[in-house]
Amino acid sequence: MMDKRGTILIVDDERFNITVLKDLLDPEYDTMVAKNGRQALERIASAELPDLILLDIMMPEMDGYAVCEHLKKDPRTADIPVIFITALNQVGDESKGLQLGAIDYITKPISPDLVLLRVRNHMQFKKMSDRFRDMATLDGLTGIPNRRRFDQFLTQEWHRSLRAKSPLSLILMDIDFFKPYNDNYGHSAGDDCLRTVAQALATCLTRATDLVARYGGEEFVCVLPETDSAGAVQFGEKIRHAISRLQIPHAYSKTGPHVTISLGVTTSIPSQAAKPEELICVADQNLYRAKDEGRNRLAFSILQAVTPQPS
Ligand code: GH3
Ligand code: MG
Ligand code: MG
Repeated sequence: MMDKRGTILIVDDERFNITVLKDLLDPEYDTMVAKNGRQALERIASAELPDLILLDIMMPEMDGYAVCEHLKKDPRTADIPVIFITALNQVGDESKGLQLGAIDYITKPISPDLVLLRVRNHMQFKKMSDRFRDMATLDGLTGIPNRRRFDQFLTQEWHRSLRAKSPLSLILMDIDFFKPYNDNYGHSAGDDCLRTVAQALATCLTRATDLVARYGGEEFVCVLPETDSAGAVQFGEKIRHAISRLQIPHAYSKTGPHVTISLGVTTSIPSQAAKPEELICVADQNLYRAKDEGRNRLAFSILQAVTPQPS
């Protein structure tokens, strides 16, 4: 896999400063530019997050301090390192910048060599911390989010749904007859099968707000915010077909000649009285029922009445 170059956002109201920094960084990094604070926040909201931000302080309308404060408050952007590059050269200015959460503070006029060296150091550090974050939240075998990430995500979405009074759906999935698959084709083929299934599941997701994770062993889980029971059942069927269509040969399955999955689906409007674990519990009961009723199928029931159960 090719190593990503990394993206740096340059924020300055002086065209000349932007040109100098861009010329310096373009050979090594992808750069984006913003001419004021507001534009910087717009760029961050609309594009992929940058790995580093070079931020001027004195800008009309919204200054660099305000931008930094805004970024550090939002969990989505709080981890993006910010370096102030500014003409403000008093100790008080620098300490204010660092207290706001900036990782470094460089005064103008800049020394290009030093800026490049510092940027390199910070980019290296950012790459390492991203790798640690991925290790903590992605499953090592399949590369999709792991159980820990699922737990965090479900809790977060449960509370969001509670506030919005919107439905939240959960799908638990388990590969049918996976033990005979492993026993007959070998553990390494079993691992390949898990990777292929995980990738197919990830491809099924079209909404950025949905999450699919490896729940454990050969079980996967999907969290669908803002999705009612009809939507969840429809999506579950889409997943079931997607896995069937992979046509992974499985001569030892009793559902057919290919790998299939069973699904337990549930929906709720979260209430103060209930807990996210109950959603998992109902999905698990439904999964058990799908297995019991013959596998390669979906079973559904609601945790709390939202919309009528589909026939
Ligand atoms: P059912 O249709 O009822 O789901 O039966 P099953 O055979 O799929 O169920 P069971 O839970 O008995 O088997 C799960 C198997 O999954 C057993 C275990 O060896 C295998 N497994 C769990 N994690 C991994 C893994 O990371 N890699 C591989 N290759 N196999 C795994
Ligand atoms: Mg199984
Ligand atoms: Mg299992």
